Amino acid sequence: MTAPDVTAPDVAAPDVAAPDVGVSDVGVSDVRVSDEVAPDHRREVLFVTGTRADFSKLRDIMLAVQDSDHLSARVVVTGMHLLRRYGYTVREVERVGLRRLHLIPNQIEGEPMALVLANTVQALARLVNEERPDAIVVHGDRVEALAAALVGSLHNVRVIHIEGGEVSGTIDDAVRHSISKHAHVHLVANDTARARLLQMGEEEDRVFVVGSPETDILTSPDLPTPDEVRTRYDIPFTRYGVLLMHPVTTEPESNSTHAAAVVDAVLAGTLDWVIIDPNNDEGCADIRRQLDRLTGPRFARLPSMRFEHFVTLMRHAEVMLGNSSSGVREAPVVGTRAVNIGTRQRGRTTAQAVLDVPPTPAAITAALTAVASLPRLPAFHGFGEPGARKRIIELFEGPTLWRPTLYKHFIDR
Ligand code: UDP
Repeated sequence: MTAPDVTAPDVAAPDVAAPDVGVSDVGVSDVRVSDEVAPDHRREVLFVTGTRADFSKLRDIMLAVQDSDHLSARVVVTGMHLLRRYGYTVREVERVGLRRLHLIPNQIEGEPMALVLANTVQALARLVNEERPDAIVVHGDRVEALAAALVGSLHNVRVIHIEGGEVSGTIDDAVRHSISKHAHVHLVANDTARARLLQMGEEEDRVFVVGSPETDILTSPDLPTPDEVRTRYDIPFTRYGVLLMHPVTTEPESNSTHAAAVVDAVLAGTLDWVIIDPNNDEGCADIRRQLDRLTGPRFARLPSMRFEHFVTLMRHAEVMLGNSSSGVREAPVVGTRAVNIGTRQRGRTTAQAVLDVPPTPAAITAALTAVASLPRLPAFHGFGEPGARKRIIELFEGPTLWRPTLYKHFIDR
């Protein structure tokens, strides 16, 4: 794997030059694709990344595929990665050394998710029609992943879905399960996820339990130090909580009041906070407006952090607060307690480190007070033991992943 360079900034700066993207509307953007042609014997694997959320999971797999003697990687970069408000994280994708990138802007700010889905399908369908990859790899539950899965299955291209079979709140469940129905191969975190996919009619030989790719980074001894993180992101305090609150797309009328409850609870306390901006799902402006009330010396607000830096931040935090998957899936791995708010991650984990609370100031304040007096916990590996990256690469390199046919049978159980 190419070692990450820790010098380039990844927080959107106002003076950043305009992106070198050669399309004015949604379409196939072949800019920045080198003319390197994969030798015939290599399997061409097309990854699609739409946010920092899937990139943190796909990155090492992309690099391993790129470095493989049998495989070749192309990466479609789209979605939030190309929006300045969200940290313009395409720079993160470029920085790690991935060579064959397609940059596809799929939205303008505020575009409804259904149109973003349509835009992405349109652009990817053209790309896939031309490039005919051997496989399309997607992660999780975002509309970009759904678009890629739809295009793959409709074009008879093998779709490999990572981290299907999970449950959470909001529209994410419907999106995730739809992706699973279009995927030909599933790489899942644990036996529970596998059982859910079998329950959805999937055939056994398509579902591989591999763990979570990010666990290797969460447990890595080779992360930036807390001082490095504080310096890079200009974080002035050493004892802090981390607040990450995304909109709940199925509860549009409640996002503002729920975010207000979190903000009220945070303002009522004395802890310092690092606040990361919400994602771009519908309702994000309501959340941002509430977060705007958190100003002054107790607060450091950032659009996005590099994954390794974020992991160090999380490891040393007093608490993770909000409704990010990082609170319920990742904080328990690094032993940090999480106060998980509302329905967005409902039913996702049984980790002792996670305290589920309703979105009221009183409940949140009580949870934060309770957590402050509790010790850190040993690592919880409910989403898979470390080693997922190796297991996934072995599957890509070997024959098993490529065996399942492109026609799926629904298995009644
Ligand atoms: N993450 C990151 N940098 C950040 C915030 C989050 O790398 O500044 C990672 C986080 O550790 C997790 C992923 O991004 O692996 C997704 O978290 P996020 O809250 O963005 O989205 P969710 O999964 O809840 O939709």
